[in-house]
Amino acid sequence: MPPCPRWAAAAALTLGLLIATAHAASADAPADTQAAKADAIAQASGFKIRPVDDAWRAALPRDAEAATQAYMDRLPAEAVARSDAYYTGAYWLILWELLATLAVAALLMSGRRAARLRDACLRWCHGPMRRDFLFGAAYAGISAVISLPLALYFGWWREQAYGMSTQTLADWFAEMVLSQAIDLLLMGLVVAGLYALIRRAGARWWIWGTAGGLATLVLIIVVTPVLIQPLFNTYKPLDEGPIKQAVLQMAHANDVPVDNVYVVDASRQTTRISANVTGLFGTAAVRLNDNLLRRTSEPEIRAVMGHELGHYVMHHMAKNLALLAPLLLIGFAFASWAMNTLLARGQARTGVSRVDDVAGLPLLVAVLSLFFALATPVNHTITRVQESEADKFSLNLTREPHGFAEAQLRLAEYRKADPGPVEEFIFFHHPSTRHRILDAMRWREAMGTP
Ligand SMILES: [Zn+2]
Repeated sequence: MPPCPRWAAAAALTLGLLIATAHAASADAPADTQAAKADAIAQASGFKIRPVDDAWRAALPRDAEAATQAYMDRLPAEAVARSDAYYTGAYWLILWELLATLAVAALLMSGRRAARLRDACLRWCHGPMRRDFLFGAAYAGISAVISLPLALYFGWWREQAYGMSTQTLADWFAEMVLSQAIDLLLMGLVVAGLYALIRRAGARWWIWGTAGGLATLVLIIVVTPVLIQPLFNTYKPLDEGPIKQAVLQMAHANDVPVDNVYVVDASRQTTRISANVTGLFGTAAVRLNDNLLRRTSEPEIRAVMGHELGHYVMHHMAKNLALLAPLLLIGFAFASWAMNTLLARGQARTGVSRVDDVAGLPLLVAVLSLFFALATPVNHTITRVQESEADKFSLNLTREPHGFAEAQLRLAEYRKADPGPVEEFIFFHHPSTRHRILDAMRWREAMGTP
């Protein structure tokens, strides 16, 4: 058996090679060619919004409901049917992901497999934290292999079928391996930390687990844009011009501490348009993707960026974490109760009797996954309310109800445009297209703007 340090060195070398490979792959596709390919795929997907001119906008009814309907009528029925199928098909992903997690738990917990894996980890790496790190990483690896068909179907095949992906299967696979390698490392660290905490805290581990979970989330939010995302995409300052000027003006008018705007080459992976403003603790980064930049008009970009700035100005990230805290606490309390009950019953079959035994990890993940799958509507409602707030912030800042509505029509490419209220409550992390356009048209009606 190789000693632990040698194993760790091999793992670090592998991760280094994966990162180098991903960078080499990024170098061989010129940005312009890639962007043109994304445009061609988006064109071929057949999602076309009926174009209009200033005369159409001038003739729009004052009444918000009627104006919203006029916007919605510009989405061709076949395009709507297609994006409905795309969006609702992904509802099943919640169920399939949960089933995959339960299957991994059943496989590892039965026949004392997890207990044997824990013993093997201890033989490789002496000391409880190193053992737990290795077990966590091994668990992530086994889960990734079992979930591979699901990842392939939802992550690549479906995206291809609906004209959302610009990647070849080889491109997708290389990125997937890299992101799994990062997951492996992260899972190892989280598991080592969590079980050290469980051992110290005893029966009230779920309270400390919540605090640890929140701290981990903050760390991930801070580290992801700086260390992880640059492994997959290139971020370049946006060329000087009216768009950069408009975005920086809006940022400075609202005390967002930035002096540059970055473009990310998202067309390497997708045809979707998107943007974001990230940052915590007084830092910020404003980013938009190249698809948004190429395929939308200036009023649309202003409306989208006004929305993203709104998230930052209204401290949505911190508020989201604050709202997530009680949900996490309930989730961990449920996990504590469920683990005690299940371990007591299954001790003979699983060979695991205590919550602080890392061999119970597959069961702990399954229990937490079940809780958070059931809490999906709560989670979605938290984000949906924030999205709606950011929409109103954008309307007040940019005064572009038409640019805003136009951008929303484009987002209907990958989001069901007109769901029922229950469907929106359960499955929508953003308000639906109709909802968002109606907000813009209400703003227009109330403000009496053209
Ligand atoms: Zn948003």
